[in-house]
Amino acid sequence: MRIILFGPPGSGKGTQGELIQSKYGFPKISTGDLLRQEVAAGTPLGRKAAAQMKKGGLVKDDLVVEMMKERIFKEDCRVGYVLDGFPRNIFQARELEAADGQRKEIAIDIQLPEKIIVERLLARRVCPECESILNLSLTKPKQEGICDHCGTELIRREDDTLEVIEERLKVYHQQTKPLVGYYREKNTYRRIDGSGGIQAVSRQIYALLEAAMANHSEKEARK
Ligand code: ADP
Ligand code: ZN
Repeated sequence: MRIILFGPPGSGKGTQGELIQSKYGFPKISTGDLLRQEVAAGTPLGRKAAAQMKKGGLVKDDLVVEMMKERIFKEDCRVGYVLDGFPRNIFQARELEAADGQRKEIAIDIQLPEKIIVERLLARRVCPECESILNLSLTKPKQEGICDHCGTELIRREDDTLEVIEERLKVYHQQTKPLVGYYREKNTYRRIDGSGGIQAVSRQIYALLEAAMANHSEKEARK
């Protein structure tokens, strides 16, 4: 099973990916998190990716694709995995298909109006240590400015400024939106309303996943 979460920046892919991971045990793979780790560690990949990330553009396809190919063939992905932030354009989608095309797939588009996206991203704080994500307009940490999970000081992501958010949205519309047509054609496209609270969104996702998994085991049984 491959679960692809897509939707604009700020639509809740990371949060929902984490919930899917704890409920079903499929590892959540976030290209954004992986790239940020590379940047923080100052690796050659991180050094190549940093400039694009800072201004909200896409990191070069070949770098991201290589990184992901390595990740999805690790042992923990055998039964399934959740992708957050990949593929982000048609080229990446084709590469994913070429590398791991046999897998049962569902692509969930978390839809959200632009106005809410900007509000959410400006209110987003992240933990640099354990990568938890928090939206100050939805949830307050127990102690102001501090991560509930590990006690580290929460920060605003460097690309969560109005200027960079606008650039990320532009890139989303130009490059990522065409994936709707791509996954529709494959018949794996589903869309949900991302504007409710965290639970309202996850309920819709679980319903889709359970339908997909039931359908899958039925097919397996008939083989
Ligand atoms: P967002 O909240 O915009 O979805 P992410 O954490 O997914 O943020 O990504 C942060 C940045 O990392 C992007 O703006 C981009 O520069 C880079 N990035 C993440 N995933 C990809 C990808 N699949 N291809 C190219 N660049 C990527
Ligand atoms: Zn933390």
